[in-house]
Amino acid sequence: IVRYENVHKSFGAVEVLKGINLDLKQAEKVAVIGPSGSGKTTIIRMLMTLEEPTSGEIIVDGKNLWHMEKNGQLVPANEKHLRQVRGDIGMVFQHFNLFPHMTILENCMTAPIHVQKEDKKSAKERSIEMLEKVGLGDKLGNYPSQLSGGQKQRVAMARALVMRPKIMLFDEVTSALDPELVEEVLEVIRDIAHEGRMAMVLVTHEMEFARDIADRVLFLDGGVIAEQGSPEEVFGNSENKRLESFLRRFR
Ligand code: ATP
Repeated sequence: IVRYENVHKSFGAVEVLKGINLDLKQAEKVAVIGPSGSGKTTIIRMLMTLEEPTSGEIIVDGKNLWHMEKNGQLVPANEKHLRQVRGDIGMVFQHFNLFPHMTILENCMTAPIHVQKEDKKSAKERSIEMLEKVGLGDKLGNYPSQLSGGQKQRVAMARALVMRPKIMLFDEVTSALDPELVEEVLEVIRDIAHEGRMAMVLVTHEMEFARDIADRVLFLDGGVIAEQGSPEEVFGNSENKRLESFLRRFR
């Protein structure tokens, strides 16, 4: 459902991505690992259309997201398709970005009502269902400030799931959490992964977790996909010295 073809991305003079080729299939779970600054976040921000490539093609559902003008400027190929793609993708970040003045139920209901123009009653029902799924059914009326970091992150997941995404993107969702709160968040992601329907791209430093749930692992290094394969292939790879030394830090 997603294909990157020779995608490059520069910020000013710095080339962060140097030719990314990537295929994401329906319901596939892909973990992206790699050193800090290797461009992991940039790859998924591009899929969310938050960044456009400097060159190359990002194709979603068979359609190119961007179109190159004669002057070399990339513009949205089709605004409607871009909006549709944004609607099909749910994203959870390291920082939860919840609305502090809304209860957690209201946090979940806002986008379905205002973006998807869904009626309030069904938005509420589904929000409750998703908050129950992430184990927060008893906290509907609480405000984010009354929750732990792990609970806030679970709200962020429920809020993304309410939109019925086809693809979920997780960007280091446990990095800002106290160690004892990490597992409850990973557990929710595991549950969603095991339901199987959605494609997922996870940027993570949790190697055990990546090994557990990923169909495929990508090792990003220096702006290219330096290795990829099944978890067994990537985590068992001792040929690639950069990968081996990166993985050693997590043992
Ligand atoms: P980390 O694990 O530290 O989050 P990452 O692999 O996700 O790293 P990115 O966040 O994709 O890396 O960033 C790659 C590089 O691009 C970094 O050097 C970063 O400073 C730079 N960068 C990212 N976004 C921007 C931006 N909007 N403007 C300028 N530079 C940027």
